[in-house]
Amino acid sequence: MPEIFDYCILGAGLAGISLANELLIENASVCLIDPNGIAGGASGTPLGLINPATGRYATKSWQAEKCYSAITHNLQKVQESSPVLFFKESGVLRPALESKIAERMKENVLTQNWPEHWIQWMDQQELKSFHPEINCEGGGVWLPIGLSVDVGTYLKEFEKYLVELGLKNFFNLSYSFVNRDNFWEIEFKNHQHVKANNLIFCTGSYSLEFKHWGKLPLYPVKGQLAVLESNSPLSFSHSVSALGYITSLDNKRFVIGSTYEHSFDYEGIDQQGLEYLLGRFNKVLPELFENSKVIHQWAGIRASTPNRMPILGKHPGLANCFIFAGLGSKGLLYSGYISKLMKDYLINSSELPPELDIKRLKLLV
Ligand SMILES: Cc1cc2nc3c(=O)[nH]c(=O)nc-3n(C[C@H](O)[C@H](O)[C@H](O)COP(=O)(O)OP(=O)(O)OC[C@H]3O[C@@H](n4cnc5c(N)ncnc54)[C@H](O)[C@@H]3O)c2cc1C
Repeated sequence: MPEIFDYCILGAGLAGISLANELLIENASVCLIDPNGIAGGASGTPLGLINPATGRYATKSWQAEKCYSAITHNLQKVQESSPVLFFKESGVLRPALESKIAERMKENVLTQNWPEHWIQWMDQQELKSFHPEINCEGGGVWLPIGLSVDVGTYLKEFEKYLVELGLKNFFNLSYSFVNRDNFWEIEFKNHQHVKANNLIFCTGSYSLEFKHWGKLPLYPVKGQLAVLESNSPLSFSHSVSALGYITSLDNKRFVIGSTYEHSFDYEGIDQQGLEYLLGRFNKVLPELFENSKVIHQWAGIRASTPNRMPILGKHPGLANCFIFAGLGSKGLLYSGYISKLMKDYLINSSELPPELDIKRLKLLV
């Protein structure tokens, strides 16, 4: 007899693994399927920032306190059971590159009701003495609570933790599924066969490949990052967010990265992407740019939505079929809290916030 699960999650990225965690905590039985393995999509990024001061003007992000609390809880919980270090409380510095931007940033720091110790305005002189080599115009903000995370490693360690809680996974296997007699029946290439009461697509930008979700307004955005090595020891250990991000990995190696290509034919790394990243890096830290060389490149595709908020909820025409996708550029920050909301929706039939609910899209069956 095939094993029967309460929930079958498709996709082992930030959305799928964080949701599996929430469901397992509620004693639900969960299986997780990913033909590409853990973090085979956008979540494979070797470096992601948790930075609640977002956009050009360092605007406080959606439900920042709840999101920050949920992701830091998950990071710490998994870190305690893992010998591999995968995140750093590095802080994030956001220099303004134009004085008009600096003014708007300052206003946001002063007016947006930030929790104590989260954010600090620095005028030009303060910022320059904090990080002398950096280009800035009019000052910027410092977020001591900002984190840098090796996302792929975090998720690999998270998955091991969840296996201990009872997660059953099926990785690197192709499969097919069908809805029969109110069950989802999943058959793998190796002829293993499981059933699930509910099927949840946590398939990021790949969701569009399924006929079930082809009409969703999920827009793929490509990003690239590069690992560089400096000729001499780095003078900073924090992350810098300006025209993308720059984060130290150790005393010589650092990452530069950005997601920016809304139209692309090729999904992998390329020279054009590298030149774009280097050009922006040069505008922020010109001296370091002159004294470092590229040692590795990575590319990934994240899914964006019209209101830049994830899409959660039930398929408009299929029973027991759900989606949790569109984490956009804030996948790390959102993953923990939004998984809790999705879990409450699935288990307790709680309402989803309207800005996240798939119903906002008024999809036709
Ligand atoms: C270059 C770059 C830099 C980024 N930097 C940051 C950052 O600094 N901070 C931040 O918060 N966010 C950042 N992001 C965004 C973040 O990575 C995404 O929001 C997040 O990873 C999306 O997670 P997800 O689980 O929704 O999708 P994904 O990680 O794409 O996961 C989808 C999963 O579905 C799997 N899949 C595909 N087909 C199937 C199938 N048929 N069946 C089952 N599974 C399938 C894939 O293998 C994949 O593992 C960045 C993204 C990129 C590309």
